[in-house]
Amino acid sequence: MEDSELSPYCYSSSLDKDRQIRFFEMMFETLPSDYEEQEINRLTLAYFAISGLDILGALDRVDKEEVASWVLSFQSHARRRDDRDNGQFYGFHGSRTCQFQPDGSKALDHNGSHLASTYCALAILKIVGYNLATIDSESILISMKNLQQPDGSFMPIHIGAETDLRFVYCAAAICFILKNWSGMDREKAKDYILNCQSYDGGFGLVPGSESHGGATYCAVAALKLMGFIEDDPLSKSTPSSIINVPLLLEWSLHRQTVDCGFQGRPNKASDTCYAFWVGGVLRILGAHQFFDSGALHGFLLTCQSQYGGFSKFPGKLPDLYHSYYGLSAFSLLEEPGLKPLCIELGITDVAASGI
Ligand SMILES: [Zn+2]
Repeated sequence: MEDSELSPYCYSSSLDKDRQIRFFEMMFETLPSDYEEQEINRLTLAYFAISGLDILGALDRVDKEEVASWVLSFQSHARRRDDRDNGQFYGFHGSRTCQFQPDGSKALDHNGSHLASTYCALAILKIVGYNLATIDSESILISMKNLQQPDGSFMPIHIGAETDLRFVYCAAAICFILKNWSGMDREKAKDYILNCQSYDGGFGLVPGSESHGGATYCAVAALKLMGFIEDDPLSKSTPSSIINVPLLLEWSLHRQTVDCGFQGRPNKASDTCYAFWVGGVLRILGAHQFFDSGALHGFLLTCQSQYGGFSKFPGKLPDLYHSYYGLSAFSLLEEPGLKPLCIELGITDVAASGI
């Protein structure tokens, strides 16, 4: 069946908060079978659902203690103290399937913990109010250092994978949440990020690559978390920044297209998630007054589904990823009834408070 036959348009003139709560609650309780292929990212999907409910002020729909113990069950532990520096990463696994080897052999020796899963795990624990002082953060930080490359970037998993800005962001967010920067060389990470700023002002995922909305968010948010970007830099009479802010501002503002949504790159269609990725960058820079927020609001409403959630493009079926970032964009636009976000950390201000 074609998506269009389901007519998922809502065309509501406002955010339907009750319907959104039902959507995120449903996603929290039972993921549809379409998500089977994403089983390996179970913690990330849980982060979208739980943080979404938090933004909606509906965290009472989840059992916080149950959630915390479920998340903690994915943590990888070194057998001995000395093992923490053996080159493996002792963070969190993304799901049960990557926690244990398929044949069940040497199950406890297997370690597939990942930087993105670890960021999501810690974010969820913050959201449900778990006391992070009780977790073995030292193992996470000591072993995370081994993932940083000589150029300052991070590998997400100790067995090797692509290294780019996404994982520099995850590492920065992990250190920020744990209030301990011993897990990374901040100067090296900063240099890597600066090398990713392109001639047009945006950031590419790796040095020399095309500017991209998601990579630009990772760069700017990581620099903010690491303390290299001041609060609201544009409001200062003499802005001093290690990045080219005017060019970044120009690149970001040009991502709002004729249909009023944001695109991730030039000549691409508007997509719900970039309302957060690029809109978030503009908020961190203190430049949100320079884009047409009313028009963006209208675009987002055309992506609100009658089933709750948001789709990537108008007229498509909703998915959890775009639903979360669509909702986050509404929070960024200061929608009444939604909790404000700590944009650089990707959780509500309330959840982030106390860090
Ligand atoms: Zn998208």
